[in-house]
Amino acid sequence: MCGIVGYIGKDNNAGEVLLEGLKRLEYRGYDSAGICVMSGNKSKTFKAVGKVVELEKKIGKYRTDTTMGIAHTRWATHGKPSVKNAHPHSSGKIHLVHNGIIENYQELKEKLIKKGHKFSSETDSEVVAHLIDEYSNKNDFEQAVFAALQDIRGAYALVMLSEDEPEKMIAVRNSSPLVIGVADDGFVLASDASAIIQHTDKVVYLDDEELVIFTPETYKVKTFAGRNKYKKEQTLEWNDEQAQKEGYKHFMLKEIFEQPSAVADAIRGRIIVKDGLAKLGGLVDVEDKLRDIKRIVIVSCGTSYCAGLVGEYMLEEYAGIPTEVEYASEFRYRKPLIDKKTAVIAISQSGETADTLAAIREAKNKGGLTLGIVNAVGSTIARETDAGIYNHAGPEVGVASTKAFTSQLSILVLLTVFLGRQRDMSLTMGKKILSELNKLPKKIDEIFEDGKNIKRIANKYTKYESMFYLGRKYNFPIAMEGALKIKEISYIHAEGYPSGEMKHGPIALIDKDFPSVILAPKDSVYDKTLSAIEEIKARGGKVVAITTVGNEEKIKKHANDVIEIPKTLEMLTPLLAVVPLQLLAYYAGVKKGFDVDKPRNLAKSVTVE
Ligand code: GLU
Repeated sequence: MCGIVGYIGKDNNAGEVLLEGLKRLEYRGYDSAGICVMSGNKSKTFKAVGKVVELEKKIGKYRTDTTMGIAHTRWATHGKPSVKNAHPHSSGKIHLVHNGIIENYQELKEKLIKKGHKFSSETDSEVVAHLIDEYSNKNDFEQAVFAALQDIRGAYALVMLSEDEPEKMIAVRNSSPLVIGVADDGFVLASDASAIIQHTDKVVYLDDEELVIFTPETYKVKTFAGRNKYKKEQTLEWNDEQAQKEGYKHFMLKEIFEQPSAVADAIRGRIIVKDGLAKLGGLVDVEDKLRDIKRIVIVSCGTSYCAGLVGEYMLEEYAGIPTEVEYASEFRYRKPLIDKKTAVIAISQSGETADTLAAIREAKNKGGLTLGIVNAVGSTIARETDAGIYNHAGPEVGVASTKAFTSQLSILVLLTVFLGRQRDMSLTMGKKILSELNKLPKKIDEIFEDGKNIKRIANKYTKYESMFYLGRKYNFPIAMEGALKIKEISYIHAEGYPSGEMKHGPIALIDKDFPSVILAPKDSVYDKTLSAIEEIKARGGKVVAITTVGNEEKIKKHANDVIEIPKTLEMLTPLLAVVPLQLLAYYAGVKKGFDVDKPRNLAKSVTVE
């Protein structure tokens, strides 16, 4: 995820418009920024690592005397943050900015290299510039773009310029957002309306598989099949801040709702269903070593720790590898037993978590093979581990982690299939897990349809001072995560517990003022979970049950309130069950009037011990 801006029109300060737009999109990524402006058929490109102010220092007089251009603020997915990986990318007379991931960039790159193309970055995006350039030999700009679209696979919003046709700008959208602003003096297009609203409130939202051809006076939308498409202009009613949050009241809510795409992006290009295989480019160099490992230790903190616990259940059951999960802050101070046959996996959204980093360094010292599951490309953990897998979840702004968590779980599923298929996992099982994983983005979307019910329940239970969150087997870690979420956001005291442990002590706390949220999907431990619910009810405790769709009527006999989640494989239920718990925490925090994006005493990335 990144921010892209384009301008074409009669105003002659395109550079200014683009820089201003980038600043408003900076929350979408700030690994690097870049701009390409045109004046006549001459282009000028500037790039800088870090924030837009660094770019601003370089652009000088090109703020003005330019009537069109493209700009980008990057959240790296392929290739570390650096000047050479910064967008715009160019080949010959073609310049472009890209948001998303080109799944098949590697094979396209190899073909283009054979044809004599020289690449200057490690990004997936650059391949599109070369492809269009290649097709431009025999086609005009528009035809070349259409031809390139036939070849590329993945998620992309692209805005492109050609020095051969300096009065034209072309944009396409497929799974990455792009909005057109229709202003009096021209067109501003951007990843979201926050970069548009200061110029115009007239917008056109592009849909997937649409291409737009702009001139300074007009624009025309076509489908990827080449048919003209009429698009209705809409009027924006958002202020600047609302536009950044795309109309959501908080970043946390926006990020909860981004989970279908965060999961889709985590698995994009990494699944070969027909062979039951997970393709993890970041592990290629250590593939043989991974075949030999006998044990896995996952080190992480907070929400990432809960993800690790789910990973432990998956990896032991399906990959057959003994796995332990450790709080990174504990691992570093005790005497962990690590050897060459142990893989130590660090899970960290920011890739900068001080405790996790220290744990990885300790593991390395002891000769372990270190791996990272990290969202931020080029972060310290990503650099210091032997190999790793990026989440590709895009920046997470809300302090309480949501979409990073579900994307971590998606990666752990892929890793389980990857390691499992190196060992005893059958082709059939590999296929079954991967094809079901593919369906999860849609299933997460279905949970949102129950939003009103979840909000009602949150409002009802906000008055309590303490709550239990209970789950068993795959959903015990989700009970921990649910409790953590409600603590972080609504400051309600919550305990995440394995439901089977209740009777060994904690049940003493239950009374009418101590409700429990119980994860009760129809899985292999469902009957046991029902017993736990009964034990709580018998002591006057109130119960909110999260169960599988179709089971509501039955479980209502036992629970006071019910939330349903779609049916899926038992090992994948955590990816669905956590979503209502995030919403419960969110709505409870909002009801209590707290700043859910910046909860007290917390920081987004914990870079201190
Ligand atoms: N995949 C591209 C890159 O890593 C674009 C990432 C983005 O959307 O910012 O440069």
